[in-house]
Amino acid sequence: MSNFSKVVLKKGKEESILRFHPWVFSGAIDRIEGSVEEGDVVTVHASDDRFLGIGHSSIGSIAVRIFSFKDIVPDLSFWCEKMQSAFNLRQRIGLTSRKGTNVFRLVHGEGDGMPGLIVDFYNGTAVFQAHTVGMWLMRDLIAESMKVVLGDLLTAVYDKSAKTLPFKASIESVDGYLLGGLTTREVMEDGNRFIVDWEEGQKTGFFVDQRENRKLLSEYAFGKDVLNMFCYTGGFSFSAMQGGANLVHSVDSSAKAIELTNQNVELNFPGDTRHEAFAADAFDFMKDINNKYDLIILDPPAFAKHRSALNQALQGYKKLNARAIQQIRPGGVLFTFSCSQVVTRTNFREAVFSAAAISKRNVRILHQLSQPGDHPISIYHPEGEYLKGLVLYVE
Ligand code: SAH
Repeated sequence: MSNFSKVVLKKGKEESILRFHPWVFSGAIDRIEGSVEEGDVVTVHASDDRFLGIGHSSIGSIAVRIFSFKDIVPDLSFWCEKMQSAFNLRQRIGLTSRKGTNVFRLVHGEGDGMPGLIVDFYNGTAVFQAHTVGMWLMRDLIAESMKVVLGDLLTAVYDKSAKTLPFKASIESVDGYLLGGLTTREVMEDGNRFIVDWEEGQKTGFFVDQRENRKLLSEYAFGKDVLNMFCYTGGFSFSAMQGGANLVHSVDSSAKAIELTNQNVELNFPGDTRHEAFAADAFDFMKDINNKYDLIILDPPAFAKHRSALNQALQGYKKLNARAIQQIRPGGVLFTFSCSQVVTRTNFREAVFSAAAISKRNVRILHQLSQPGDHPISIYHPEGEYLKGLVLYVE
């Protein structure tokens, strides 16, 4: 038995942990034996002292995030085993050898049994993003485990946790390289090239999670007039161009995003006049798009970051989708997404249903989309499902 402080649960509160759910809520705790600070490793026990798991403690309603249900020591060999398991999955789904692709998510938090940790792999550079102090404190060990598992595939590890660590934690985190340094920023996804700015960009620099949905979009794009709303680095725009779109308009409220999109267009389709990018607010831009587009993509940022904002978020999705459904050309196809974790698949579908009802048009669902395999969902942790999408045919 290890020497970490012990978190002992109230009687009966071990049930969810026995079913491998990795979160211990503060209300389930009876007592803590020993002293615990934010980020410390603790062991979790049932009221009869049975060992349940080992994890990182944090301030807040989720008091412990379990990273092992076995009584292990979280040393290099433990993290190597975890990292190997994560890498094996990416290998098994073909991402480490996919033609024209050198970007994928290597670690997806709870989905990979590493709650609080996100790692995206960008053509040799792993961007490490800790969402808990516990994971951040182990950054050097985890970076080392990546080197062991990925070998020569890995040239650098960049820590980008300063903005994602809980603000209550009184630690000073400065972003920077844990291993190696800057080599290249250029990545490729299904043959499209992107410059990824992990230092300044949103999230880890790129939205890896839309890869399969972008691929599907390219199949709908031939000869079409396309609007890519919330384009960020332009991912969906290039899929549309690759698929033979007639015209592509990319829109984002961030001028920086528009700059990135234009830069990436030049990289992939130099001098191609089919594409134009606009820095504008989505709701404004969509006031007057009647009959202008055959294919519209709506991939907004998470409208609800917390449960308290759910209703307002659903109104936002309804309004946005209503504008698109009302104005898309007859026979148009709409790719619409929600990446808010608190918005369930049913919530989202209802919001889009309400939007369709306002338009009174005949709307059929062609596809129900989700997150790809490198963003796995642990079957024991359904909260890990966050990306939801619908592809609609609007008559
Ligand atoms: N579809 C993108 C990811 C979108 S992320 C991809 O595949 O990579 C969400 C984007 O929405 C961000 O770039 C953000 O700048 C933009 N955004 C946020 N609010 C907006 C608004 N009101 N109008 C337009 N764009 C907005």
